[in-house]
Amino acid sequence: MKATPFVFLILLVAASCSVKEQGYNREDGLSVFSVQGIETHLKTLASDAYMGRMPFTEGEKKTLAYLEAQLKQLGIEPGNGTSYLQEVPLVNITATAAQTMAVKSKKGSFTLEGLKDYVIWTERTDEKTELNDTELVFAGFGIVAPEYNWNDYEGLDVKDKIVLVLVNDPGFGSGDSTLFKGNTMTYYGRWTYKFEEAARQGAKGVLIIHDDVPAGYGFWVVQNNWNTSRLYLDRRADNPYFCATVGWVSNPAAKKLFETAGLDWAATVSAARKPGFKAIPMNVTLSASLTVKASYDKSYNVVGKITGIKQPDEYIIYSTHWDHLGIGKPDEKGDTIYNGALDNASGTAGILELAKAFKALKTKPGRTIIFLIVTAEEQSLLGSAHYAENPIYPIEKTVANINIDGLNPYGRMNDIVVIGIGQSDLEDYLDEEAKAVGRYTSPEPNPVAGYYFRSDHFSFAKAGIPALYTGTGIDHFEKGKEYGKQLQDEYVAKYYHKPSDEYDTTRWNLEGAVEDLKLLFNVGKRLSVETTWPQWKTGSEFKTIRSQNMKQ
Ligand SMILES: [Zn+2]
Repeated sequence: MKATPFVFLILLVAASCSVKEQGYNREDGLSVFSVQGIETHLKTLASDAYMGRMPFTEGEKKTLAYLEAQLKQLGIEPGNGTSYLQEVPLVNITATAAQTMAVKSKKGSFTLEGLKDYVIWTERTDEKTELNDTELVFAGFGIVAPEYNWNDYEGLDVKDKIVLVLVNDPGFGSGDSTLFKGNTMTYYGRWTYKFEEAARQGAKGVLIIHDDVPAGYGFWVVQNNWNTSRLYLDRRADNPYFCATVGWVSNPAAKKLFETAGLDWAATVSAARKPGFKAIPMNVTLSASLTVKASYDKSYNVVGKITGIKQPDEYIIYSTHWDHLGIGKPDEKGDTIYNGALDNASGTAGILELAKAFKALKTKPGRTIIFLIVTAEEQSLLGSAHYAENPIYPIEKTVANINIDGLNPYGRMNDIVVIGIGQSDLEDYLDEEAKAVGRYTSPEPNPVAGYYFRSDHFSFAKAGIPALYTGTGIDHFEKGKEYGKQLQDEYVAKYYHKPSDEYDTTRWNLEGAVEDLKLLFNVGKRLSVETTWPQWKTGSEFKTIRSQNMKQ
């Protein structure tokens, strides 16, 4: 239907009145954003002088000093009392596993070979941790999901036992899009969730059965974890329970364990996919050991704020991570510095531009805007996890989180990607802003990979705060979708987590980044003048957590 110009005009007036009543002006502040503005910060943070911005290094000191100076210069208030820093205590755990694992069953005994058959590690800091003829239980997918009426631990006591669980969730590969989320991975499908749930249940250990397709990567990726060091939050203060060992078994090794337990592999796995599945004691025991070295250090989140003029005790958090991988192995060109220009000097530059734009608003934000630039994202979201567990601003007073991890380096796009589509009302805000400028939102090209659980917004989601995470569009303004897709594949193949992720004016075009930032700015700007609270959508795995937090 085509409206007459007259009718169209009336509609337009009506629409702009309703948003104006809320004090929302779509244009206010937008002129601040520029390619040059982003570029200045990006060039600095991604330069070799910042040494790949690794926590605990000289690169961290330089980065923190730069960010603090920039926030001060913009007139952004310190976000943690009188400080721009939040201390993040971390522990580096190096776990060394014994070469073999002993398996005993009624059918006989054998050993599994470390690295080849299994990979284990621990979050415990005791010098030695072991499994000693510890009983093995097959616990399906190891999932407790009230919204799907699913509990693999129902009636099961896993104290002093190791749980063996399947990778991903029952929806994946089921051909049923109503079972969990079908092929779209839910939080319950993530390996991190399975370790956390096993610990919540008090299990002695947990082993995930690897499988290429539902895992999304080969066993060699898991093998990279063999006897390495990892950073964790230093939780000595609250001393929570951790499993003695966590890890993975290869698919052939898992089948061997099933065989010795007298369980039919195919039938058991298929039963585990059905609602009402009951965990199966395997009458198999495992023995293995780990020696542990722990060392403690501190890194820092950077935090600034603009205090709201109407509801100063309600918060909107923009987040991004400042850290990257530091100095590592040389690439073909002999370059050893992981500059992390896209990941995530660009997002850090973006948040500074957002701060500048919020500062320049004619209509001041009613709610308080927080700019949180976290550490140790690359070490599994530690800076944001620390914030979510030790929030400076109350979780139940935090309206929303908008996270940036990488800006669009490819020029203008018609679309902007919503990662984890269907999660919260925030995507509708974004969609409206996109439409208002003739753009559109599109779903992530690869929902199977679970990207919604792989950047800092996830730490907020886990705490129940509605969180928006976007990605670069693929519908290139001049050259279309094929070209856009090609650019993204090229990024993953050539630049992602490599020393080649550098700022390069011949390759980069930040015009699209400016447009994306304007959308993210407008979403936050609108939230800042509204009094309503965006919600998780029905079916989101974070909805229950939010309603529980809001009741307290
Ligand atoms: Zn990143």
